[in-house]
Amino acid sequence: MSNVKIRDVRVIMAQPDRSAQFTVVKIETTEPGLYGVGDASSRTRPLAVKTAIEEYLRPFLIGKDVANIEDIWQSAYVSAYWRNGPILNNALGGVDEALWDIKGKMAGMPVYDLLGGKAREAAATYAHASGRDIKEVEDKARAFMAEGFHHIRVQVATPGFATYGVSGGAGSARDPQDGPKWITTQAEAADPQHAWAQKAGVFEPKPYMRSAIGLLEHMRGALGWKVELLHDVHERLPAPLAVDFAKEVEKFKLFFLEDLFSPNDIEWFRRVREQCATPLSIGEIFNHPHEIVPLLKDRLIDYLRLRVAHIGGITPARKYATVAETFGVKTAWQGPGNISPVGHAAHLMLDLAVSNFGVQEGPEFNNHTVEMFPGTPEVRDGYMWSNGRPGLGIDIDEKLAASHPHKLHPTSAFDNVRRADGTVVTP
Ligand code: MG
Repeated sequence: MSNVKIRDVRVIMAQPDRSAQFTVVKIETTEPGLYGVGDASSRTRPLAVKTAIEEYLRPFLIGKDVANIEDIWQSAYVSAYWRNGPILNNALGGVDEALWDIKGKMAGMPVYDLLGGKAREAAATYAHASGRDIKEVEDKARAFMAEGFHHIRVQVATPGFATYGVSGGAGSARDPQDGPKWITTQAEAADPQHAWAQKAGVFEPKPYMRSAIGLLEHMRGALGWKVELLHDVHERLPAPLAVDFAKEVEKFKLFFLEDLFSPNDIEWFRRVREQCATPLSIGEIFNHPHEIVPLLKDRLIDYLRLRVAHIGGITPARKYATVAETFGVKTAWQGPGNISPVGHAAHLMLDLAVSNFGVQEGPEFNNHTVEMFPGTPEVRDGYMWSNGRPGLGIDIDEKLAASHPHKLHPTSAFDNVRRADGTVVTP
């Protein structure tokens, strides 16, 4: 119990630059000057999340005691009756992170201290080296290694085909996860000259498999064994080929192989486990406990890559981390550039506090973003560092945010990747 109540819940939608649309929740309290911020960024459906917060959670939350995070989470979670799902969980996740921020500020402690204190000094972070050809990937990887990164995700374009995680190659996709090639205005989108860009491209599994295996073979030979290599399949392979792929890349000793299956096919992880020791990670599009718990309790994955706001925030994330610890699984919260720095600050609190931390995906924050979000966690020497301030240690410059609203209508951005015959491929 405290005497501090929720006075208002606001949604701030800001876009510091072309590629990043952020959704931030701000909870104001009855205590003058005391507020919290949380991340509810949804790359693909931001307006739905905004509506869920403003029209449903806001009236539910106003007047509630900010001290009772667990009770607020549980009551808000079931208040819709139909629960889970990426929209409602994301809305709740933004609220939850803001409440932890407030609790930390009231206690005068960073959130990692509320969670039990630092288990490590900083969070090992992985960088993304992708390119149109192997040489470009190697050059980028070497540059990251020179900056001090020990973990590098490598992706290369498959010549002539759409490839996840790579932009600029022939036939490359405008991928919703990466998205640097968006059409910037409705007028441009209507221009027939840009019609090619509306097509995400053709994906075929076997050319992808050969190019990815070629990349990993080259990178191991060129970079040796001092660096950890990661690779993301992005759920694009048919399940039997995915089993084969995991076996083929076993010899390269990846740190992890990510999203080998779509959530519909997670039972196939059992087949992979029986046949090879390639470390496996998944979780960024999970939002239901039934997707998460079976993989943990049967020890079918090695790294849990949940998107923290997408599952409902810090409150459920720390519980999943504890379950994962029990079964020898480590955390690797999803941390792409389409999550605001507020979300990354929340990840960092968990990274520092849980004993079974694995690695943190980290974006390269540009100057516009850092300016809009004072307190953005610093990535230095391959690690993400906390500034040690109370709460999440981060804020949003609302004036700057107001002058940089979301520019792109979300429906303009998400074409399907398809097989050569036109069959839709999981993204
Ligand atoms: Mg992924």
